[in-house]
Amino acid sequence: AKADGKGTFRFFEPEMDEQLKARRALEADLRKALANDEMDVFYQPLVNAEHCRIVGFEALMRWRHPECGMVSPAEFIPIAEDTGLIVPLGEWVLRRACTQATIWPSNILVAVNLSAVQLRSGTLVQTVTEVLESTGLPAVRLELEITESVLMEDDEGTLAALHELRALGVRIAMDDFGTGYSSLSYLRNFPFDRIKIDQSFVRDLATRFDSLAIIQLITGLATSLSMSTTAEGVETEEQFLHLRAAGCTEVQGYYFARPLPAADLVFELPRPDNG
Ligand code: C2E
Ligand code: CA
Ligand code: CA
Ligand code: CA
Repeated sequence: AKADGKGTFRFFEPEMDEQLKARRALEADLRKALANDEMDVFYQPLVNAEHCRIVGFEALMRWRHPECGMVSPAEFIPIAEDTGLIVPLGEWVLRRACTQATIWPSNILVAVNLSAVQLRSGTLVQTVTEVLESTGLPAVRLELEITESVLMEDDEGTLAALHELRALGVRIAMDDFGTGYSSLSYLRNFPFDRIKIDQSFVRDLATRFDSLAIIQLITGLATSLSMSTTAEGVETEEQFLHLRAAGCTEVQGYYFARPLPAADLVFELPRPDNG
């Protein structure tokens, strides 16, 4: 058995070693990314389902690695969270997004993703207050998106920070709703302004009757709790029509627009009947 174990270990060793090396290298590069001006923010519209008007943009972090090209947030955000680099990176995104939003039409929101690490850092409320003050963006135009995992630890400090942010006038959205273990119980813990329905429910909407039933349940619940609902990952007209009929107030996805650099934003969608 011992020989087997050893053999198995040897077999995997070079591969694990490579993965670890690659991760360490990426981590070292990420430490320098801000100073080297490699980070950027892209924006994806949130579209009102009823009138197809753009009501806001979600800020999504991008990393242009000098050798690897674009590195996906799915790859670098976990590294940033493990190393604590998410705190300076997150602050940078917040400042950048709020600065850029000040030149947008005044009815357009900007949504910024927050990591649980930022909420636990103890400096978030102070950072948000300072960024709003120095950029001059009205608090009501900022929405902060947090995932369920933020509330999972049931940490008093986190909940207090969320209430303080809300007291500033900032809106709070629950991201990736429906993917956690007890999504519903979190709705009792905090009065969110918006629920973002995870794209996994949207993906199989046309083929799975249960997904539609779940979405209808979420929008009904959100309405009675006075929360907006955004469906994420909308890629087809068929999905959009289902979601609108199911009562989603906003929609977001490639069907409307991909995340775009700040310079390429438009504030109205092309009308479908104009071709
Ligand atoms: P998320 O917050 O759920 O963001 C939505 C993701 O779905 C984005 O991926 C977006 O580009 C993608 N998406 C939008 N429409 C569609 C669609 O129609 N189809 C498909 N398949 N995907 C669509 P992205 O930009 O790669 O970001 C991935 C995740 O990384 C985000 O998921 C978020 O959790 C995290 N992230 C991105 N930027 C930041 C940031 O500034 N701070 C933090 N803490 N996390 C971030
Ligand atoms: Ca998000
Ligand atoms: Ca999401
Ligand atoms: Ca997600």
